[in-house]
Amino acid sequence: MGNKEVNVALSALSGVGPVRSGKLAKLGLERLGDVLWHFPLRYEDRRKMYTVREAPEGMTCCVKAMVAQDPQLSRARSGVELVKVRCVDETGTLHLTFFHQSYLRRAFSPGDQYIFYGRVERQGRGLAMVNPLFEKEGEERYTGRIVPVYPLTAGIHNALMVSLAQLAVDQVAPTVEEVLPTWVRREYGLCQQEFALQNIHFPQNFEGLASARKRLIFEELMTLTCGLAMLKGRRQQGEGLVLGQHTPEQFCALLPFTPTGAQTRAMEDIFHDVTSGRSMNRLVQGDVGSGKTAVAAYGAWCAALSGLQCALMAPTELLAEQHCRTLSSILEPVGVKVALLTGSVKGAARKKLLQELERGDIQVLVGTHALFSQPVTYHKLGLVIADEQHRFGVAQRGALAAKGGEIPPHVLVMSATPIPRTLALMIYGDMEVSIIDELPPGRTPVATYVVGEDKRQRMYGFVRTQVGQGRQVYLVCPAVEESQGEEGGEALSPAMDLKAVTTYAKHLQEQVFPDLTVGFVHGKMKAKEKEAIMSAFASGEVQILVSTTVIEVGVDVPNATLMIVENADRFGLSQLHQLRGRVGRGKHESFCVLVTASRSDTARQRLRVLTQTTDGFQIAQEDLRLRGPGDFFGQRQHGLPQLKVADFASDLELLNQARQAAQTLVEGDGELSRPEHQPLRRRVEHMFRDNPEIFH
Ligand code: ADP
Ligand code: MG
Repeated sequence: MGNKEVNVALSALSGVGPVRSGKLAKLGLERLGDVLWHFPLRYEDRRKMYTVREAPEGMTCCVKAMVAQDPQLSRARSGVELVKVRCVDETGTLHLTFFHQSYLRRAFSPGDQYIFYGRVERQGRGLAMVNPLFEKEGEERYTGRIVPVYPLTAGIHNALMVSLAQLAVDQVAPTVEEVLPTWVRREYGLCQQEFALQNIHFPQNFEGLASARKRLIFEELMTLTCGLAMLKGRRQQGEGLVLGQHTPEQFCALLPFTPTGAQTRAMEDIFHDVTSGRSMNRLVQGDVGSGKTAVAAYGAWCAALSGLQCALMAPTELLAEQHCRTLSSILEPVGVKVALLTGSVKGAARKKLLQELERGDIQVLVGTHALFSQPVTYHKLGLVIADEQHRFGVAQRGALAAKGGEIPPHVLVMSATPIPRTLALMIYGDMEVSIIDELPPGRTPVATYVVGEDKRQRMYGFVRTQVGQGRQVYLVCPAVEESQGEEGGEALSPAMDLKAVTTYAKHLQEQVFPDLTVGFVHGKMKAKEKEAIMSAFASGEVQILVSTTVIEVGVDVPNATLMIVENADRFGLSQLHQLRGRVGRGKHESFCVLVTASRSDTARQRLRVLTQTTDGFQIAQEDLRLRGPGDFFGQRQHGLPQLKVADFASDLELLNQARQAAQTLVEGDGELSRPEHQPLRRRVEHMFRDNPEIFH
């Protein structure tokens, strides 16, 4: 980023050496210039200088005083060496004690002024500090200013980071190119690059820090949004397959219901895209149960009628199987052949299927992401649909497109993750968006309750009532299998272990509901077993389905009216909302019971959000506020580059401004090829260095 002479390798600096430079590398720091972008975690305000009399007892602060006499070395009875130094100012005496640092007896000369930084204790009429940090007046680095506190690693102390940062700010910062065009800085009131870098490390005051932060966040978000806008621009220019004039109206005659206005609008958006001659890259976002499958089916139908193939990718086998059933029931009557390809289609059946696909006898292929990673050859792939897209990232979208011919296939993404709109714009910044903001008619909101262990027997009674009325019940509990790997490795309590799917299902079947049929399904089961149990549930044979969150997405059994979630406090609100979306799909009144053993008020308060609203977007916003963006951005599933300073949750305002600026910039100079945009372009390329494919 800087120029070569000043941007030296850290290992070449005196005071660093090979051992420390190895440790610094762990923090991602190899050159001095890297330190410039390694921002403090927090700051300590050490600006105020106290006199001995004013120094507040019990506080850690700076006191300026003069060394009054030569330090005294002594030895405590325990054998510990200690150095005592007496200092004074006009208001009193400061007694210093240093342990284990006998060399300090030669460090102070009487008459010299020092700043001491430490915790203040009273001692007689004067003050005392133990092992304070000290600096000679006029040579302050860690006192008398706002001192940065850096993210550290074992063997690297903050003092080293501070001195490296000082060096970087002095030597490298002046050589860093200004990436923001002047008009952007003027319009959004942003300070200059060098000022920002100086003040993020060594703020003169908190106003300076605030403006440095603002600028750096803006810069980061603008770099990101520029990258996404460039990508979108490129896609829009791309030539697209032109599909036939097969209108939503014609298609809707095939559906067993009248589509909602929002569904129709989404279909019209698709119709417009696929007949425009440009490549479609569209996100259909709609809350659980809003009817996205019908919209996907429209796309598949359009492609098939135009002599092209459609591939629909689902995140789980369960969901793929269900989509295959739904699409077959709509499309096979009009002669469109739908097939299923998952990991469990093997041997001769697989071979036959792949041949039919290659010949073009199969028009719609439904499957898991295995669809694209295997040597699957399409005859003429015209449309790729990804359902429940939050599991796939920006990078995967590129891989999908690669399976097409010379002209890339259209891409349609369906997402039920109720991501707050602004975030959606980020993650899907390269896409057009259709929002389905209307549920099919006749849905009653799912009545939701938060209950404690004391209500367990009543809850089982309620299960019985529902089943007695011919309804079915989902019972979700956190899975042992899942919580070890993907879920973040949280250790399971014995209580949760007990509730692990199989044991719990067995308990329910034998002890609680011996007269009913309890089934269970979890992620580690064979696809065949899962399929068998799901179809037994779909047909009503199984009345109570105990499961892990494998049913979180998409599963559709309208007769199920009660969703019980055990240990509900372990889940994010958005995830619970998804789970709740499994019920309330039919004409019967539906319920969701969130069970928690947690006595903490905040845990219960959080769950209560779900009892108060059914608006997925509002819930997502609340989740974002309470838990931070990790829920949406955990495991970097979105595929976006990692950000250093900006935080999607709290910097929404700046995000909007940065997007605006990026849009304007890219509209005028699509590839950022003008000379004045070169620094920014380089920054964009640097940020997206992990997914260079998005620029192809
Ligand atoms: P999601 O958006 O969660 O994928 P689905 O496509 O699974 O929703 O639809 C949920 C349920 O609503 C399905 O049973 C589907 O048949 C039904 N459905 C979808 N659209 C309509 C509609 N316009 N009118 C009535 N029922 C509908
Ligand atoms: Mg769905």
